[in-house]
Amino acid sequence: MRGVMRDFDIIIIGSGIAGASAAAMLSARARVAVVERENAHGYHTTGRSAALYSPLYGPAPFRILSVASHEFLTTPPAGFTENPVLTPRGVLNIAIQAQLPLLDELAEGARAAGIPHRQLSGEEARALCPVLRPEHVAGALAEPDAMDIDVESLHQGYLRLARRNGADIRLEAAVIGLDHGAAGWTASLAGGGAISAPVIINAAGAWADVVAGLAGLAPLGLTPLKRTAFIIEAPPGAEIAAWPSVIDIEESFYFKPEAGRLLVSPADETPAEPHDAWPEDLTVAECVERMQEAADIPVRRIIRSWAGLRTFAPDRAPVIGFDPAAPGFFWLAGQGGYGVQSSAAAARVAAALSLGEALPADVAALGLTAAQISPARFREAASQL
Ligand SMILES: Cc1cc2nc3c(=O)[nH]c(=O)nc-3n(C[C@H](O)[C@H](O)[C@H](O)COP(=O)(O)OP(=O)(O)OC[C@H]3O[C@@H](n4cnc5c(N)ncnc54)[C@H](O)[C@@H]3O)c2cc1C
Repeated sequence: MRGVMRDFDIIIIGSGIAGASAAAMLSARARVAVVERENAHGYHTTGRSAALYSPLYGPAPFRILSVASHEFLTTPPAGFTENPVLTPRGVLNIAIQAQLPLLDELAEGARAAGIPHRQLSGEEARALCPVLRPEHVAGALAEPDAMDIDVESLHQGYLRLARRNGADIRLEAAVIGLDHGAAGWTASLAGGGAISAPVIINAAGAWADVVAGLAGLAPLGLTPLKRTAFIIEAPPGAEIAAWPSVIDIEESFYFKPEAGRLLVSPADETPAEPHDAWPEDLTVAECVERMQEAADIPVRRIIRSWAGLRTFAPDRAPVIGFDPAAPGFFWLAGQGGYGVQSSAAAARVAAALSLGEALPADVAALGLTAAQISPARFREAASQL
C-alpha cells in the first residue's frame, strides 16, 4: 500500500537472483519486504546470464558457494519448480599447445576444491565436440558434472517460496532514499511512500555502491563489467544437443548449446557505470573470429545478442555481511559471473549472518570464513590509508 508506513524485519533491495534467493531463505523466519525498481524481476543481470552451473568456473569463495548450492539446486523443496533446475551439460576448457600448463593449474584448483574433472587430449576433446580444430586444440580439461541451469524456473521458484512465506514483494518500487533513525532504516520509494525495518539487505547488483551512497556510506569499489552474449544457428547437420559448453582456457570466448542453437560469448569484461547494458557489434564480430580459429562453426547471422553487467568487488570475492560503518546495513553483492550457480548457498549465508548467526556449517566446512566475504575487508583497508 503506497503512502502507508509498514514495518518489516528486513528490507531487501533488488529482486534479481540475489535478492530473490535471500528472501526465500529468510522469509520463514523474518518479516521480509523485497523492493525492485523495474517492472520485471529478472530485468537486469539475472535475466541475461549464460545459465551454466560450473563450480570450477570462478575464484575459490565462489567455488565453495557453488558446490554448497548443489544440493538445493538438485533437490529443492517440494513445489519449488515444475522442471528440474539443473540438467546435464558438462564443460570443456580447451587449450592450444602453449596453454597446456594452464590446464594443469586448473586441474590443481579442481583437486583442491574437490570438483570432479578429467584431463583430455585434443583428440578426446574432439570426440566430445567434433567441430574443434585439430590444429588448434591440443588438450582440454573436462568438468563432467557442470550443468545447465533453468534460471527462470530457479528465480521464480525463489520468489514463489518467499511469497508463500508471506514476503511482501514489490515491482516498480525503486529505493530513492535511506535514512537511519531510532526505529532502524526507512527506505523512501519512488512514487511516494516509505517502509522501515532494522535491517536493509543491499542486493542491488550493479547498483550496490549507489544504494550504499543513499545510506550515506562510502562505496566499496564494486565494478560492473559488461559481458556480451549472442545466439547463432548450430552448424548444419551437427548434433549439438550433447555437446559440452566449450570455453577457451584464457576465456577469450565460450559457446554452449542453447535450445537447439548455440549461445556464444566473447567473455568480455568491460568496466561500466551501472546501466541497462547493450551489446556492441564489434565485440560480437571479434568474438566470432576468435571462436572460428578454434572451431569450425559457420556464422551466417546473429539471431539475437544482449549484454549484462557482472559486478565484482576489488578482490573478485563476494561481499556478504554487515557493513561495520552503519548499523543494520547488510551487503549481498559482488556476485560477478557466478551469482546464479552460487545463489542457494550465498542466500543461506546471507540469511544466517543477517540474523546474527554463524556461517552454515557445510559452507564453513568447505573452508569459507565470514571474514573472507565481509565488507569490513574494504572498510579496514580504507581506514589504513
Ligand atoms: C552474459 C552473462 C553470462 C552469465 N553467465 C552466468 C552463468 O552461466 N552462471 C552464473 O551463475 N552466473 C552467470 N552470470 C552472472 C549472473 O547473471 C549474476 O551474477 C547474477 O545475475 C547477479 O544477480 P543480482 O541479483 O546480484 O543482480 P541483478 O539481477 O542485476 O539484480 C539487481 C536488481 O536490483 C535492482 N535495483 C538496483 N537499484 C535499486 C534500487 N535503488 N531500488 C530497487 N531496486 C534496485 C535492479 O533493478 C536489479 O533488478 C552471467 C552474467 C552475464 C551478463
